[in-house]
Amino acid sequence: MKIAVLPGDGIGPEIVEQAVLVLNALGESFEMETAPVGGAGYEAHGHPLPEGTLKLAKEADAILFGAVGDWKYDTLERALRPEQAILGLRKNLNLFANLRPAILYPELAGASTLKPEVVSGLDILIIRELTGDVYFGQPRGVRECPDGPFKGQREGFDTMRYAEGEIRRIAHVAFQAAQKRDKRLTSVDKANVLETFQFWKEIVIDVHREYPDVALDHMYVDNAAMQLVRAPKKFDVMVTGNLFGDILSDCAAMLTGSIGMLPSASLDANNKGLYEPSHGSAPDIAGKGVANPLATILSAAMMLRYSLNKPQQADRIEAAVKKVLAQGLRTPDIFEAGMRKVGTREMGAAVLQALV
Ligand code: NAD
Repeated sequence: MKIAVLPGDGIGPEIVEQAVLVLNALGESFEMETAPVGGAGYEAHGHPLPEGTLKLAKEADAILFGAVGDWKYDTLERALRPEQAILGLRKNLNLFANLRPAILYPELAGASTLKPEVVSGLDILIIRELTGDVYFGQPRGVRECPDGPFKGQREGFDTMRYAEGEIRRIAHVAFQAAQKRDKRLTSVDKANVLETFQFWKEIVIDVHREYPDVALDHMYVDNAAMQLVRAPKKFDVMVTGNLFGDILSDCAAMLTGSIGMLPSASLDANNKGLYEPSHGSAPDIAGKGVANPLATILSAAMMLRYSLNKPQQADRIEAAVKKVLAQGLRTPDIFEAGMRKVGTREMGAAVLQALV
């Protein structure tokens, strides 16, 4: 199995290094090849997603991605900015399903802004459709308003749309992910107001017939946002469109209070995927050896579970992460009094040691 390793910029190389060490310690024979991406791609080849990097990503069975971006590239034209690499990879590899777990280990319950009893032990998975919806729907633009009380004025408009096949494929990903967990799926929509999401609901119900072992329920997005903050632990897997998923997944991430802990995956129809921490390249702490590598290490665990079909190896990594937290090791972003403050390398080494 071939893994494309794309460390990127800022803290990317530091945190990816630790995840690679953990992957190498599993006793599997992964072939890993590294290539520059983002600002590093621009420096090396004049483009954030150099041809060789895209070729490697296409050939590989999975991609381990660090993070891209640095303020020094802010003046570049948009097409050459580091963040374009992510969009380019998503588009070229057809990565339409974004999986964002929000897990709050009981040891870190104090990091959340919510009461510990509401969030401690939280373990939910948000699945966001990534390539459709109002973000990409045509037509869009600014035009002369054709009707209504503001007729003749300028108006901005976008188009919300989802094709049946788009809904079916994300629904399959969601049902299959639920099968690997607690077998409960909540489809989030706005079927009471939007035609697009009335249709979404109809198709999700139809796909459900192939997954009778999964319990499906439906929730309007406004209620889902409220329930995420009121009683997040009652969810298992949530699936929704691009716009609602963008908002809800960030909301869920913040329930945990620690961005350095959250992995993510973006999958295609064959479960090939790009795995990356939910955070960015953190230029403010790059090179200081203090970045939390756990989100990236946990992204590697997701890669083993979803793309490489090695769930036991994923379990080993996740158990090792739990163990080091229970031992009281903390990088500065999750540090609390009474714990042992460690840097990136020490945290990675502790996870390696805790692997059984
Ligand atoms: P960021 O996530 O990089 O950082 C936000 C804050 O969280 C910073 O204070 C940072 O130090 C901290 N942080 C992030 N990851 C951490 C970790 N692993 N350990 C400890 N602390 C951590 O977001 P930002 O500052 O808004 O963006 C910085 C750059 O990253 C920008 O160029 C942005 O475009 C880019 N970005 C990239 C991605 C990506 O590669 N997928 C995602 C978001 C932002």
